[in-house]
Amino acid sequence: MAKPANFHVVIVGGGATGAALAHDLALRGLRVTLVERGEVTSGTTGRHHGLLHSGGRYAVKDPESARECIEENFILRKIAPGSFELNDGLFVAITEEDEAYLPRFLEGCEACGIPTQVLSREEALRLEPNLNPQVRVAVRVPDGTMDAMRLPLRFLATAKKNGAVVRPYTEVLEVLKRNGTVYGVRVRDHVTGREEDIHADVVVNAAGPWSGKIAAMVGVDVPIRPSPGVLVAVEGRWTNMVINRLHPAGDGDIIVPQRGLSIIGTTSWVVDDPDALDLPEDHVRLMFEKGGEMVPVVGKAPLWAAWSAARPLVGPRQAETGRELSRTFKCFDHADEGVEGFVTITGGKATTARGMAEVTADVVCRKLGLDVPSRTREVVLLPHTAYYRL
Ligand SMILES: Cc1cc2nc3c(=O)[nH]c(=O)nc-3n(C[C@H](O)[C@H](O)[C@H](O)COP(=O)(O)OP(=O)(O)OC[C@H]3O[C@@H](n4cnc5c(N)ncnc54)[C@H](O)[C@@H]3O)c2cc1C
Repeated sequence: MAKPANFHVVIVGGGATGAALAHDLALRGLRVTLVERGEVTSGTTGRHHGLLHSGGRYAVKDPESARECIEENFILRKIAPGSFELNDGLFVAITEEDEAYLPRFLEGCEACGIPTQVLSREEALRLEPNLNPQVRVAVRVPDGTMDAMRLPLRFLATAKKNGAVVRPYTEVLEVLKRNGTVYGVRVRDHVTGREEDIHADVVVNAAGPWSGKIAAMVGVDVPIRPSPGVLVAVEGRWTNMVINRLHPAGDGDIIVPQRGLSIIGTTSWVVDDPDALDLPEDHVRLMFEKGGEMVPVVGKAPLWAAWSAARPLVGPRQAETGRELSRTFKCFDHADEGVEGFVTITGGKATTARGMAEVTADVVCRKLGLDVPSRTREVVLLPHTAYYRL
């Protein structure tokens, strides 16, 4: 009978997805090494809004992703207490057109299991006095604010406690393959400058928007479309709850309060290379304009920072803006294309990383002939500070 500790898995990428996967596999008893070319969370994960999604944003047009979000939202609250502000979110209708969207929104939320509470204009303004006074109606949902970096650090801390090795500043240069089977990775340690081979029974590509580049190293194609968006942080925490526009997901329709700042997001376009992102000035201006439509003071607040990051969306190369692509995730076992020992997990949201990891670890265990279930739905994570002590 095969034992989990007999197998070694290398994970490429230290974002939310790789971190959650390291935790899941280590908890099942496998030997795990995670390699990340920069600091952990230095990819897309360290640069998102910090919105713990309720799924409301996707409930009408992308119900698969909406269901994943609400399921993981509730699990994360249990396994990572203290990592979220349980501040809820409001979807606000400012125009008649927004208000006309209300029935579809409520239907979508109900079908996906997302709890809602409809609030009148007065009730919404009592909760959030800085809302546009023209607000017509609002819907309360269980969104929340999270720290984009600390949640993955909790996954990594717990993975380390269970024996995983985490190697930041270690870049994969080559995925090693012999006779159609992947057997490890060649890496460069950017601290020592040394190159070495790390052998593995399975290599998992969790490189987010870079996963197409890692897959190309073994000659397989993953239909990944890096889709950047611009985020703007303004000085001042102008709402307590997450504010979303009640309309089909679009530009500048999310405001996330983060400590003493408000983060406005986002836009969407597509690129071939996630290392070549620009920060279009008109997108930054649009964030102020659109954010200001929901919360006028946000539109006039001083700029604190603006940046862009690329979503790892799964979809065809001809996608035009990325908005048409689902936010769900996909796990590829490349044995289906004739390459053994190599799995890719990509797509999804930071909110759904735990669920993505569970599915991927199931695939890895099946490949290795292991029958060990995931326990990440129940195990409470170590605090993020433990990451630096272990
Ligand atoms: C603008 C924007 C806003 C978003 N807002 C939210 C939000 O509020 N809430 C939410 O839940 N989700 C949000 N998302 C989505 C979320 O950020 C991503 O789905 C998630 O962070 C992806 O995590 P990941 O681990 O798959 O990828 P990444 O975090 O990108 O991790 C991949 C890692 O692989 C590493 N890597 C690449 N090449 C190599 C190599 N050769 N060797 C070693 N390592 C390598 C990279 O350095 C990177 O750290 C947002 C996305 C964007 C773009």
